[in-house]
Amino acid sequence: MKQVELTGIKEFREKKVEKPMPAAHEALIRVEAVGICGSDIHAVHGKHPFMSFPIVLGHEATGEVVETGKDVSGVAVGDRVIYRPQKICGECLQCRTGKYNICNHLEVLGCQDTGASSEYYAVDAGLLYRLPDNLGYAAGTLVEPLAVGVHAVKRGCADVSGKKVLVIGAGTIGNLVAQSAKGMGAAAVMITDVSEYKLNMAKECGIDYPVNVGEKNLREEMLQKFGPDGADVVFECSANENALNEVLDIARKGITIVIVAVYGGKANVEMANVQDREYSLVGTLMYLHEDYADALRLAGEKKVNLDALISKQFDLLETAEAYQYIDDHKNDVQKVILNVSHSS
Ligand SMILES: [Zn+2]
Ligand SMILES: [Zn+2]
Repeated sequence: MKQVELTGIKEFREKKVEKPMPAAHEALIRVEAVGICGSDIHAVHGKHPFMSFPIVLGHEATGEVVETGKDVSGVAVGDRVIYRPQKICGECLQCRTGKYNICNHLEVLGCQDTGASSEYYAVDAGLLYRLPDNLGYAAGTLVEPLAVGVHAVKRGCADVSGKKVLVIGAGTIGNLVAQSAKGMGAAAVMITDVSEYKLNMAKECGIDYPVNVGEKNLREEMLQKFGPDGADVVFECSANENALNEVLDIARKGITIVIVAVYGGKANVEMANVQDREYSLVGTLMYLHEDYADALRLAGEKKVNLDALISKQFDLLETAEAYQYIDDHKNDVQKVILNVSHSS
């Protein structure tokens, strides 16, 4: 079968490898679509701190089950599926207490272990989820980042319903955090960016207040749309320290600010504001099983719009072109999908 491997900075190699045999606990998936994630883009540029070459990328992938190992139950040949790409130890304190998303030995399939950029992919059947019938393979890949959004929202508050939510940054993750919050019952969601393309997309996805902070003052917008008490919870999805510092200046005292963005270097943060204004700065990483289940429910009930986020689609064998397209369209690209064609 065909497989595409990242061998160096912006260097891909198309390989012919043996089609995998599913182990007893595994299912073999005929891969249909692979989403390109921000972390993949960092890896392709050699800027991912926890990834090395060579690696087969792809952790947001959908496909059809074509074979199951002898111990597999609950998944059948013909099922349309997505998987949760987490390989955990099951033994560390976090794993023992249900926080396996922060397992001490966490490996992400497609980051530290082989991903799905190939015609077929064998994966632990316990990680599989059936796609809702009304969700295509390409949009289905967005269930993975949507689960990131669902988990982030839960890290921000026990129950988001009725809350006013501010999301900084309207990239794919910011958009999906905002859509998760809406879908889970938030009263109103404001999202900021400087890209009109991404803000228009947020509007199309039903986000109440897209704000171009290149043109408008965030404090005034919040006052106008949310009233004097502002947002009840903030999600930082921009990895921009100036944006974070502005939030620490203007957000209501005592609230939770969730750091969703992956910061590339050390951020220069006004910690005096965190202390004096009694903010809770909270991190969030990936998701748990329940978040995947909730993400699939939101998608199935059409409480989120995943199709709208797809900017462009390429064939898996055009992987290099796809990454070049992303580099060339930084401000007007959201999700890029690689579709897998099958020779047999
Ligand atoms: Zn991802
Ligand atoms: Zn563990």
